[in-house]
Amino acid sequence: MEKSSLLIQFPEQKLTLLIQDSLKLVLMGKMNFEAKIELVQREDLSEAEQELLAASQEILKDAYAPYSKYKVGAAVQLKSGIILKSSNQENVSFPVGICAEQSLLAFAGANYPKDAPRMLAISAQREGDEVFAKVSPCGMCRQAILEFENRFEHPIQLLIQYPDGQVVRIDGIQNLLPLSLGDLSL
Ligand SMILES: [Zn+2]
Repeated sequence: MEKSSLLIQFPEQKLTLLIQDSLKLVLMGKMNFEAKIELVQREDLSEAEQELLAASQEILKDAYAPYSKYKVGAAVQLKSGIILKSSNQENVSFPVGICAEQSLLAFAGANYPKDAPRMLAISAQREGDEVFAKVSPCGMCRQAILEFENRFEHPIQLLIQYPDGQVVRIDGIQNLLPLSLGDLSL
């Protein structure tokens, strides 16, 4: 191995990564990865799940999205049962804008630092549309959700509103973010 290379092993995933020149990843093993993502009918959800989805749907109407015209609402249920809501907040300097999920989790983490987020619902709609957009958390939001899972050592169930009364239910962010960066000590 060259001196600039770094070998990283993930025993649980039966995966070994060889990182060369800090950038190039070479897969050396097989990865066993099975995503737990299901498409369900909204009426088949539990009462708590439906309530949280409704909260995300309600808050998206007040999203501040004058540039993308893409309104996103997010609602989180904490372990105590408290439900918090937020929406995307854009900025004329585009990178300054913040996603609904990130603004929501930042507020939850700051104001309820000992109350773990357990379930996160997301709804999105383009301005003028009647139907929901098929949204999915962006990469930065996936990383933000992962941090909260690690912080409270508990997965967060995700619910995403889809058109035609369908809902995507995801059993923890690892299903959307395999091989994630979650521990700098490894
Ligand atoms: Zn995002």
